Amino acid sequence: MSNPSILILPGDGIGPEVMAEVRKIIGWFGDKRDIQFDVSEDLVGGSAYDAHGTPLHDDTMAKAQEVDAVLLGAVGGPKYDDLDFSVKPERGLLRLRKEMDLYSNLRPAQCFDALADFSSLKTDVVAGLDIMIVRELTSGVYFGEPRGIFEEGNERVGINTQRYTESEIERAARSAFELAMRRNKKLCSMEKANVMESGILWREVVTRVGAEYPEVELSHMYADNGAMQLVRWPKQFDVILTDNLFGDLLSDCAAMLTGSLGMLPSASLGAPMANGRPKALYEPVHGSAPDIAGQGKANPIACILSFAMALRYSFDQGAEADRLEKAVEKVLADGVRTADLLGEEGVTPVSTSEMGDAVIGALDASL
Ligand code: NAD
Repeated sequence: MSNPSILILPGDGIGPEVMAEVRKIIGWFGDKRDIQFDVSEDLVGGSAYDAHGTPLHDDTMAKAQEVDAVLLGAVGGPKYDDLDFSVKPERGLLRLRKEMDLYSNLRPAQCFDALADFSSLKTDVVAGLDIMIVRELTSGVYFGEPRGIFEEGNERVGINTQRYTESEIERAARSAFELAMRRNKKLCSMEKANVMESGILWREVVTRVGAEYPEVELSHMYADNGAMQLVRWPKQFDVILTDNLFGDLLSDCAAMLTGSLGMLPSASLGAPMANGRPKALYEPVHGSAPDIAGQGKANPIACILSFAMALRYSFDQGAEADRLEKAVEKVLADGVRTADLLGEEGVTPVSTSEMGDAVIGALDASL
């Protein structure tokens, strides 16, 4: 049987720098754990525009559709700010998400004990936090029709439409329940069924899908209360399922409970392929960080943890994903810090590649 395949798209700015560290980790799993991948690499974003005049070449799109997982660094940068909207670097990423039909966006909010002081909330509120937000990504108010700015009488009106079909809700819900089954079997669905018909349908469909997962404890919460509860006592949650708009807000809110942008991974999953694996794109939440690009200062942990998610959700290597996450935890507990994580006085920051090496060292120590 052939090895599982990964397409690496480093992108722009710090993307190639953090991805180089993921490459080292992939190499480590091949050498030390005999877990081999067929890895190919291509361009996306500004780098693709420089080479091909488009932020995503059709050949790259075709490759992305074929592989078992795509790992993406980041796209964008000031050099491309004045480009026409249709060829901006971000369009490459949006095309990938749209054409791969990645409807389920997983954003973990995990607080490593060593960084609990970094949060804007009290340490005991966030220490040990480990929750997962599942955001529906391809429908809802960002896509619903009609939309636009129209003339109405003697003024203009801006319109966006919140629209969800039952099947769109159902597939997002199913992906969240499957996730809950792999975690602590607890799922909270958030909408505004008190004031929105789409919320009423959302609650009904999620409840119906939930009946197929009797082991999962399902609860429902209005999304505004959910936002409040997330900052009051986030540890009450495990998996949170929500729509595109509320998920946009709630996942940013939850993510920031945990400290630096340089720490946050994400996964976007679509329908299962013929081999049973979901279509999948893994990427750090952060952007291309032009202010620090090329200086060896970027924190590679978000990208490394995105690969850990790939091990877990695309390659059925949950134990190895745990190993990698524990290695990151150990490195942080040992006080190794990139510049974005500096809080304590007297700590000298390590470079991007030194952080990658420290994670490799912790992986070695785990054997
Ligand atoms: P950004 O995430 O690139 O940077 C915000 C701040 O966080 C910067 O100060 C940066 O130095 C810091 N930062 C980000 N990642 C870091 C890391 N790994 N280690 C250390 N520090 C880190 O957001 P921005 O400045 O708003 O956007 C810069 C460019 O990135 C823009 O062109 C934007 O469109 C693009 N962008 C791309 C993505 C993506 O590719 N998914 C996401 C967001 C922004």
